[in-house]
This record gives sequence, structure tokens and C-alpha cells, in this order.
Amino acid sequence: MPSTPYYLIDEARLERNLKLLAKVRREAGVKILLAQKAFSAFDTYPLIAKYLDGTTASGLYEARLAHEEMPSKENHVFNPAFTEAEMTEIVQWCDHIVFNSVAQWRRFRDFPHLPSAGLRVNHGYSEIEHDIYNPCVVGSRLGVPRAFLKPEDLEGLEGLHFHTMCEQGADVLARTLPHFEAQFGEFFPQLKWVNFGGGHHITKPGYDVKLLIKTLKDFRARYPHLEVYLEPGEAIALNAGYLVTIVREVFDYGRPIAILDASAECHMPDVIAMPYRPPLKGSGLPGEKRFTYRLGGPTCLAGDVIGDYSFARPLTPGQELVFGDMAIYSMVKNNTFNGIPLPSIALKRKSGQVETLKTFSYADFKSRLGRV
Ligand SMILES: *Cc1c(COP(=O)(O)O)cnc(C)c1O
Repeated sequence: MPSTPYYLIDEARLERNLKLLAKVRREAGVKILLAQKAFSAFDTYPLIAKYLDGTTASGLYEARLAHEEMPSKENHVFNPAFTEAEMTEIVQWCDHIVFNSVAQWRRFRDFPHLPSAGLRVNHGYSEIEHDIYNPCVVGSRLGVPRAFLKPEDLEGLEGLHFHTMCEQGADVLARTLPHFEAQFGEFFPQLKWVNFGGGHHITKPGYDVKLLIKTLKDFRARYPHLEVYLEPGEAIALNAGYLVTIVREVFDYGRPIAILDASAECHMPDVIAMPYRPPLKGSGLPGEKRFTYRLGGPTCLAGDVIGDYSFARPLTPGQELVFGDMAIYSMVKNNTFNGIPLPSIALKRKSGQVETLKTFSYADFKSRLGRV
């Protein structure tokens, strides 16, 4: 085991998710890609490649990572605005590219060796309530609304892409598709593929997998010539990793506090941004068990709080705590604010054996800030 804090990826749980996604893929006749922005622990890419069709990238570096670490599979990329320099590299690595505006498509349509190209559209229908995650807000910077698209703009494009969901069920997709079809269906005959983005919470307990498969099959029956892609991120590694930390110190100035060696701000930033309360092994809701603590990180940020949790026994310094659902939007988003060390990354194999994949040091902090 590495020293704490460390992320521990659970291979068995990852594979369980992948098996469910492979079933959707098989039964619905669609292709499913890993959205790397949620989870890019590339030591697991050979396993992911066994079950999915490939990856999608948010830009140059993720596209390159997929090319290096999952070379046998499809490699898609989307970015709000590519540069010429990036495109020179991207055309070597990607087989599908999604543009965010007609201006981008015009700029790059004659670029040498351009892969199969699509356009991200904004059909304006979203059930996301948190504006920061809603690409359909008025004046959105993501995707082309129908009113701004002329039929001739689509000449040469092979696909359309939308991404308007976030942690949502198959019912939301079923309500979303009619908007996509009503506005953009007239262009489908000239296309080869459509991509319904991410935000499909397929591996969450209670997700209606049957409805998803039916919705996708019905769509495919209406447009049999179209390849259909989904590109979930969360769903691939949902509940497939932990963050292992220890209690550094405990005190009570009117509220029992425990300072951990893991930080919400540095190591689990979505806990603050989303926000959400990660599960913690052996704990209860505040007040549920006898001893309630506010758990916080070792940074100077007043809001570096993971949440309030209760325990059957008082916490003691040196005690290990294990947070769940820590594989997604964690390793890919962490930072060294306050010079806090980055957690190591470990992999728990199906056999139960734990392998340390990566440890970090002072050099990782310093090298990002200047000449070394
Ligand atoms: C974020 C994103 C995804 C993955 O979303 P999840 O919510 O992690 O499933 C897929 N495609 C695009 C374009 C995205 O921006």
C-alpha cells in the first residue's frame, strides 16, 4: 500500500460497470466511448478496451493519451475551438472530430487528412438545473442552435453531436431525443453518425437500462443508416474507486472537527463544485451515529470541508478513513494548491492484490511553477 492519501481504483467494480455498458452496446446496437475527462487512469485502458469502442477527448492531450494507451480503438475529440497547431497533431491521432461552431468547420474543412467530422448542435432542451453544467442556457458557448444553422453549412459533415445531460436517467434521454430529431432530423439522411454525448448515469443503481436500450433501438429503427454513439464518463468508473486518507488531528471549539490528510479542494474538487457528499465507509449521516464530525482538509481554505459524518466511536489521530466514489473527476482534476501533496494512485486487482501505479513528490509541485 502507498502512504496516504491515495486513490485506489477497484478493478472488479470497474469491470462490473464495463460489463453493463457492453450489454447496452450489444443489445441496443450502439457504440460506447469512454469520456476521458472523467477518468483517465490509463493503466486500466486495456481492460476498458475489452468492453467499449474507444474514447473521446476534450482536446489535444486527452486525444494523444488515447492514441498512446488505447491505440486499437476509436479516438474521438471535441473542443470549443481548435487551433491550427493543434489540428496538425489531432489529424494524426483521431478518427472522429466534433466542431463546436460553423466558423470552426469552415476554418478546418479543407485541412489535410481531416478525419470524419461532425458538428455539435444545441437543441435547447435540457433538464439540468445547475447552470454551470447546463449547455442549453441562453447564450451558451457550446453547440450551434438550429436557428443559426443553414443547410449549406453542413456540407461535408458526417455527424451531429449533442451533450445536454448530466447524471441523468434514460427517461431524460427519451424526452430529449424528440427535440434533437424535430430540429435536426432533416439533415439525418446525409449523415453517417450521431453522438448523444455523456451524462447518462447508466451504472447507477436504479437506472432504467431497459428503457435506454429500447429508446436507442427505436431511434436506430427510425434511422437505420446512422451509427449511434454514447460517450459517458461518470458511468464508466462510477463507484469504482476510493480515496484513502488518515485523520491528522481532532479538536472541538463548539463543533467536533477532524482534519484529514486529504483535501476536498485539492483532491476531490467536485465535492465543492457539484456539490456532493461522498460516501464514507462505516459512517452515518450527521447525528445518526453517536459522534458527529465535520471532516476537512489540511489547506488554508475555510471551505475545504468534505462534509459532516457520524461514527460509532470517536475519531483518533492516525485512523484511516475510506471515501467511496472517488475514481471519477478526482485524479483528472486534482491540484497542488497550498503545496498539498498529490495522492498516490493504486489499483486493486480482481485478485485483491494492490499495485501502486504512481506516487508524487515535491518535484511534481515545483516543476509546474517554474524552471527546475
Ligand atoms: C463531460 C462530457 C462527457 C461526459 O460526461 P459524463 O457526465 O461524465 O458522463 C461526454 N461528452 C462531452 C462532450 C462532455 O463535455
